Amino acid sequence: MLVENIIETAEENGAKQVMSVEVEIGEFTFLNLDQVKFCYSTLIGDTILEGSEIILETKKGVVKCDSCGYTGPILAIDDSELYGLGLLSFSCPECSKITRVIEGREFIIRRIQMKR
Ligand SMILES: [Zn+2]
Repeated sequence: MLVENIIETAEENGAKQVMSVEVEIGEFTFLNLDQVKFCYSTLIGDTILEGSEIILETKKGVVKCDSCGYTGPILAIDDSELYGLGLLSFSCPECSKITRVIEGREFIIRRIQMKR
């Protein structure tokens, strides 16, 4: 769980209170950033994260095609209104076979601003 990971990382580094956290979210988690922020705010009460701000950035995913060796981003149907509704194609842009995800399903904690 993201919040637990942040608390653990902050505590390991001697934090008494966390001011803000920067997190990269993989494109293929398909998470709505507003929902993540909302969940975060509901989970941090009575922890060292209480009152902190979460700054989210989406990180592009990477797929690999085992048929032709293509490695890179998927073809996205670029419609911001539809983004997140599953209109990303996981077919290989080179040969149309199904690719597998090698990056983009993860959370990466980039920076934690804290008081010790
Ligand atoms: Zn391919």
